[in-house]
Amino acid sequence: MKGYITKNFRWEEFERSSKAAELGIDNTIPDDTVAENIRALVFNILQPLRDACGHPLRVNSGYRSKTLNKAVKGAANSQHTKGEAADVHEDNPFTLAWLVLHIGLPFDQLILYDTFIHLSYKRRGPQRGQILYDQSYKSKFKERL
Ligand SMILES: [Zn+2]
Repeated sequence: MKGYITKNFRWEEFERSSKAAELGIDNTIPDDTVAENIRALVFNILQPLRDACGHPLRVNSGYRSKTLNKAVKGAANSQHTKGEAADVHEDNPFTLAWLVLHIGLPFDQLILYDTFIHLSYKRRGPQRGQILYDQSYKSKFKERL
């Protein structure tokens, strides 16, 4: 899909995947349900977070087709396959995760990895507000929320 979702986020950022390109996998947003889920994630979490942190946020992984999700060994039923999740790059994920909590954003899951945070939002709620730590985070950082 073309164009902007909000002033700082474009639809293409949620379809782009180096793995999909490498393997020739179609990762186009498939329907309105997925598009509306992405829009809700951006409106409720990513754009407010972008406004609060004051620097560009890079989406490492947004939407994943089922085929792409398998190729990147994503969790079965991953929220990425529904357009409900995005992995946002950050050298120190703790600072960005702290900001999410500090400004009170309504996330479903927040998972800290070594170089990014996974954020999800369920359009029809309720949000679980779960905070999890991936093994890659534990190996590098001591800070906990
Ligand atoms: Zn993720």
